[in-house]
Amino acid sequence: MTEQKAEETIFSKIIRQEIPTELLYQDELVTAFRDISPKAKTHILIIPNKLIPTVNDVTQDDELALGRLFTVAKKLAAQEGIDEDGYRLIMNCNRHGGQEVYHIHMHLLGGQPVGPLVAL
Ligand code: AMP
Repeated sequence: MTEQKAEETIFSKIIRQEIPTELLYQDELVTAFRDISPKAKTHILIIPNKLIPTVNDVTQDDELALGRLFTVAKKLAAQEGIDEDGYRLIMNCNRHGGQEVYHIHMHLLGGQPVGPLVAL
């Protein structure tokens, strides 16, 4: 992990509600809110409250919070009414993964077909 990547991002401010963002869910481990630039009809970000810059920085201590991302994704998908049709969960890592915000986050995308995974 580089010092630069360990710096707080805008997501820490959202978690602490220092910038106004409607939270769809928050508990002691995770926070969820809508993506500011949605790539599908439903596009929600679910993030650990702890600053973990990339998936490469995940440790065993993070397993509870990272597991919580999935139970919250399931809950929000049902709340959005997209659970039966289905959705995609994505986590990007570093440059080749297309990561832009260095505070790990799960994208919940749905509300429409999101297409098959295609070969690059
Ligand atoms: P990634 O490319 O996986 O790092 O995704 C970062 C996501 O964060 C992008 O989809 C952005 O649209 C989203 N994003 C950046 N800033 C904000 C913000 N202030 N509120 C909500 N979503 C944001």
